[in-house]
Amino acid sequence: MRSFTEDNGTTRVVFGRGTMDRVGDEVARLGRTALVLSTPEQADLAARVAEVLGERHAGTFSEATMHTPTDVTDRALVALQESGADVVVSVGGGSTTGLGKALALRTDVPQVVLPTTYAGSEVTPVLGQTADGEKVTESSPAILPETVIYDVDLTLTLPWAMSLTSGVNAMAHAVEALYSPDATPETDQMALDAIGALGTALPALREDVGDVDARADLLYGAWLAGRCLAAVGMGLHHKLCHTLGGSFDLPHAPTHTVVLPYAMEYNAAAVPDVMARVATALRADDAPTAVQHLVVSLDGPSSLETLGFAEGDIERATELATARPYPNPRPVTPEGIRDLLTRALHGDRIERPTS
Ligand code: NAD
Repeated sequence: MRSFTEDNGTTRVVFGRGTMDRVGDEVARLGRTALVLSTPEQADLAARVAEVLGERHAGTFSEATMHTPTDVTDRALVALQESGADVVVSVGGGSTTGLGKALALRTDVPQVVLPTTYAGSEVTPVLGQTADGEKVTESSPAILPETVIYDVDLTLTLPWAMSLTSGVNAMAHAVEALYSPDATPETDQMALDAIGALGTALPALREDVGDVDARADLLYGAWLAGRCLAAVGMGLHHKLCHTLGGSFDLPHAPTHTVVLPYAMEYNAAAVPDVMARVATALRADDAPTAVQHLVVSLDGPSSLETLGFAEGDIERATELATARPYPNPRPVTPEGIRDLLTRALHGDRIERPTS
């Protein structure tokens, strides 16, 4: 995978190895000094970024948390104001990116993001914030980060289990983009390229978690999948995962990993052409079984039971996921969702007719 810089007038992208070294120059394009954001777990990485920033470093806030609680944003806003920074640098996964976006929504501060997972949030204008136990999603041009520095080296520390679930999280964006009513030839191509890159790189990474080429392909696939997520509306799979994460506190990427094959199975008969294209990208005969096989063969999570979801949760989850209509290839019915969740709860094997 070669290094490149793309500036298409929306998000500026710097992709390659060692690109973190460019963070000072990228901050200088947008302002004077930066507040660095991270989770507590990635505070060491934030310190490295601060060192590279040198005199452009105005402060660090290392309390980013999953689902972007607004009380954390309140504290980060104080840190931003006290530091005098006019740019934020978010280094981490979707949770840290979410905090940077929340600050941008409140203050319009420009963002530089250095992603370290495959969530794809860095290229979307979407933010999900949690207050009083409820996660509310909104979209605004102010939320979209100005610059993304993809440094493959920063992903080398992502543990195997998280690499797999985060990679499947990215794959889910691409799969649902293909059957979105908003799909275009351009998003189709990005989605298929993403699925191909992710589907090839994940097994390679399983063999060698330090495989830099596989890491580069995963990050590239994540970028393309994130652009799909930004460009077109998602369907049943994302709705279900949002419900399971927001109302049942299930972990984001593992939930995507369990649900994706069942959501694909649910929709398969309604979009056989899309499933055939996904299967081709995965070099397989059938798309839902291929995704399930990929996850199971790589020892990923394959049932909602293992993530803390219980039989008694199915009814409420069904109600929440069917409360409001949304576009999906196959009509979303309570019976259908109940059945899907029951199958995903137990990790039932997907068996599909061969053509
Ligand atoms: P995360 O950001 O919560 O990261 C999980 C943990 O892994 C954290 O402790 C983090 O510090 C650590 N980590 C991240 N990268 C690492 C690395 N390279 N090495 C070692 N540790 C690392 O997980 P995520 O799945 O990236 O993000 C999930 C959040 O992102 C959710 O809140 C989800 O809703 C949001 N999200 C938003 C969008 C959007 O477009 N708005 C898209 C995808 C995800």
